[in-house]
Amino acid sequence: MKRWLLALLVLLAPAAQAQPASAWAQAATPAPGPARVIGATTLGCLAGAVPLPPEGPGYQAVRISRNRHWGHPDLIRFTRDLAQRSRAMGNPDLWIGDLAQPRGGPMPSLHASHQTGLDVDIWLDLTPKPAMSRAQREEIDVPSLVLPDQSGVNARFTPAHARLIRLAAEQSGVHLVLVNHGIKRSLCEMHRGEAWLHRVRPWRGHDSHMHIRIRCPQGSPDCREANPIPPGDGCDASLEWWLSEEARRPPPRPRPPGPPPSLPAACTAILRAP
Ligand SMILES: [Zn+2]
Repeated sequence: MKRWLLALLVLLAPAAQAQPASAWAQAATPAPGPARVIGATTLGCLAGAVPLPPEGPGYQAVRISRNRHWGHPDLIRFTRDLAQRSRAMGNPDLWIGDLAQPRGGPMPSLHASHQTGLDVDIWLDLTPKPAMSRAQREEIDVPSLVLPDQSGVNARFTPAHARLIRLAAEQSGVHLVLVNHGIKRSLCEMHRGEAWLHRVRPWRGHDSHMHIRIRCPQGSPDCREANPIPPGDGCDASLEWWLSEEARRPPPRPRPPGPPPSLPAACTAILRAP
């Protein structure tokens, strides 16, 4: 397995936490002060988070009751910009899924990352949508765009989906865009060699949404960015690996020797802040 992939797996493996995820989920409001990211997106937190408004030009946020629509101001700006640009391309509203909890930190369910207010999930659904109430948006179900054997996309995937993923990958400040490896394979068939594919990385799941991560913001010296993405478009043996027997086994959980990693010490103060 490629070394960077192993490093990513280690980063995504759930870590034991000094403060349980439930404590972070119960923090209903952001920690005060200027926006500041601490640690890594898989083991970190943030102060000074701001909420994504539940709806805006080009988007409607879903499942707002989870209180996971908080982020660093850079992420909120990024998400709103992306939705407006998507609308300018003629797309219907985007469904925006989870960002982060008000103080970031681990979540009790669904995500290993999304801990520092730099990640956002955007559904790959370009069907026309009416303006829906917030209650209606609690129950959104988007079908998969990937074939059952995950070797590529199904008939629901259109060039407009590829254009939306490209728009996200080319937006300034983006670090990476995670999509299912079947989606990446199809993008490679259509766009091999194009520079934007570099930032579109294959992963499990993500067959009906893309996960966008932005770079560490200015003014956050304690923000830790993941390893740089290897050069190239990624349309190579590392992509073929996802169809191998090894990749189809349950996700490995390699753990470095020693005690499990814990959240940066500064996160304790962020969790306890009034
Ligand atoms: Zn995500």
